Amino acid sequence: MSAQALRQYLELLRNSGIQQLYRPQSEKAEILASLSRKYSSCTLCPLHNGRHHVVYGEGNPNARVMVIGEGPGEQEDLSGRPFVGAAGTLLDKMLIAINIKREEVYIANIVKCRPPGNRNPESSERLACLPYLMEQIEIIQPKFLLLMGLVAAQSLLGNSNTLGWHRTQTHLFRGIPTFVTYHPAALLRNPNWKKDAWIDLQAFQKVYEAGKGE
Ligand code: SF4
Repeated sequence: MSAQALRQYLELLRNSGIQQLYRPQSEKAEILASLSRKYSSCTLCPLHNGRHHVVYGEGNPNARVMVIGEGPGEQEDLSGRPFVGAAGTLLDKMLIAINIKREEVYIANIVKCRPPGNRNPESSERLACLPYLMEQIEIIQPKFLLLMGLVAAQSLLGNSNTLGWHRTQTHLFRGIPTFVTYHPAALLRNPNWKKDAWIDLQAFQKVYEAGKGE
């Protein structure tokens, strides 16, 4: 799958709205659990080679915000859970800093199997895996998306702009206000970026708090 085909597909996804279906929280949890089981043996793309677990995602099925990263790292692959280890601890701290507990959000990734050596997922791998994330968004129907890092931003928003460009504006993905900031793993590698990440998080918090009660 070429990068151009991926862009066209993402553009289509970005511009199509999600169907507003009311589902009680217990039903959403059941559907997500059943899909997680269904995809646990997925071999649609080469990332299944060598993986320990498909890291489907976890969190509140009724979350107002979905946090979306790039893909599982070593710890996530071993545990089967997203954002564990040092990056997960930092994500928890980032959320707490804006008065959001991890249990309140739903956390997922663009690809659900670990790319070897933590390389960026290829266009074809993202394209193969994106329908699973789209399903999660359809089921959870979050009010906000918080994208962590450039791969998540470019993959969902369907462009090749820089992280700086993505961070400085609010986007709409299928009608959902979408914010972009640094991936926690990048902040661990470059602590100097934490100041800018804090600016991003405060901008998100302002809109998130204002939307409470909707
Ligand atoms: Fe399947 Fe996604 Fe894993 Fe590829 S990354 S094998 S599409 S679950």
